[in-house]
Amino acid sequence: MAAGHKSVGLGDALVKIDTPIADGIPFEGVPEIDNRDERAAETSQEAYIQDNRQDILRLPVVGALLKWRWLQPLIEIPMVITFVLVIIVGIWGTQEPSQNLATMLIWIYWWSMIIFSFVLVGRIWCFICPLGAVGEWISRRVGTLGRKWPKALRNLWPAHIFFITLTGVDLVFGIDTLPNVTGYFLLMIMVMSIVLALVYERRAFCRYVCPIGGMCGIYSMSSGVEVRAKSRGRCESCTTKECIKGTDESYACPWFEYPGEMDRNNYCTTCLECVRSCPHDNVGMSARPLGQDLWRTKTRVFDEVILAVGMIGVMASHTIATTQPFDEWVTATEIDQGIPAWLTLTLVYVGSIILANFVYYGISALGGRAASTEDRVLDTATVFKWTGYAMIPLSLAMFMARNVLFLNIWGTAIMDVIANMSNPPGWPLGSGPVEAQYLLPDSTIWWIRMAIILLGFIFSAYAGYRLSLRLQPRRREAQLLLAVIILALVVFSIVYVWILSLPLVA
Ligand code: SF4
Ligand code: SF4
Ligand code: SF4
Repeated sequence: MAAGHKSVGLGDALVKIDTPIADGIPFEGVPEIDNRDERAAETSQEAYIQDNRQDILRLPVVGALLKWRWLQPLIEIPMVITFVLVIIVGIWGTQEPSQNLATMLIWIYWWSMIIFSFVLVGRIWCFICPLGAVGEWISRRVGTLGRKWPKALRNLWPAHIFFITLTGVDLVFGIDTLPNVTGYFLLMIMVMSIVLALVYERRAFCRYVCPIGGMCGIYSMSSGVEVRAKSRGRCESCTTKECIKGTDESYACPWFEYPGEMDRNNYCTTCLECVRSCPHDNVGMSARPLGQDLWRTKTRVFDEVILAVGMIGVMASHTIATTQPFDEWVTATEIDQGIPAWLTLTLVYVGSIILANFVYYGISALGGRAASTEDRVLDTATVFKWTGYAMIPLSLAMFMARNVLFLNIWGTAIMDVIANMSNPPGWPLGSGPVEAQYLLPDSTIWWIRMAIILLGFIFSAYAGYRLSLRLQPRRREAQLLLAVIILALVVFSIVYVWILSLPLVA
């Protein structure tokens, strides 16, 4: 097996802030409240998992299985076969969306369930994703030009633009109801993944282009599992750095991560390549409190915050578009004003994303003003860039609350879809009736949705509390900043619950 690539990314696309606020005002001399564990994590040469946590990889059987080199390919192979089947069935199979494997599997089940996986195990989807796997296999077996990804594009904007365009086109034209468009779209993404893998080093497509990569990254911050260096001191003194160079038996981190500095999950798929590479047994995997990255990480990236807050607008616009009053309004606007429905939907969609960010930027200005002191001035951009991460649990909860409905309606239909694939005109393209059975009554689903939103709200408020203390250790000012963050959470939650309460399109 060839050794990994020698180039070292070390997360150079990210903006690192070494002190709690950008202007570098140190903690010394400032009254502290209870941000000691963050400080310890920042200043200690030892990594988080060394002190208190169990390294899952040391568990018998489980540890050996997770470290087993063939575990990932063994899961990826059936995923790739299924993915190819989905493309074929999408393009050539029945064009009735509720009877087609492509539309049902991708837009109902995968899209609905992936969001739940982030909370438990971070980017576990990327660990088994067929798109990433195919590009990686081809570049490893066939070879790659190994070019570096252009510096100007080492950010999340290409992925954001791709994601916002995709979800916008879906909202306006309903890709999720068009099997052949779904099939061609998946084929296009697969070709992109392969071509970029042949030209650029490692998983450049995944890191910088994949439309759901950015979303996977921000939501994986809430997960309860992490891969980290056990001792950062050991990484500092390590001169060989096999984790980022690779060895004859293992690859360099496909995601350009460096365990010695990694303090968040955003670009780690738990592939454990670094565990296999490290000759010092210095990388471990541990369970941890949910969402710790949100307040602990030193890395704050403006484009991530734009997406985190913008996801609230994405969810709001997609959810309201399925309601009766909105549908009637769009129709009336078309008839009365002559504004085509696609234009209204596009304006609402783009406007919702911009409005969510605009509102939160305004809230950040208010928070910065309320929480600034003479010795610690908090400008709007800094408050936005730090506390915007507190919006992640709430937007994740909105996403889940929306998807619970689809899983409830279509829960058992996949069995019919798969059974019908053997019907005429023959395997695997056949069609037949699909029975959608509601798993739970509407009233139960309503309360499940409310419970999810409430949990997201509490989780976000807690993240806001921790972030407020990081930005402003003085109790009174931190409380003011927290109050402003909670104001934003209340506004966003009320609007979304109101949207959920509207009757659905018949
Ligand atoms: S970033 Fe996208 S293509 Fe890459 S593994 Fe994750 S979901 Fe798949
Ligand atoms: S090889 Fe191991 S000890 Fe060396 S830098 Fe990487 S993780 Fe740290
Ligand atoms: S487990 Fe290690 S090698 Fe794999 S993505 Fe995470 S840091 Fe990189």
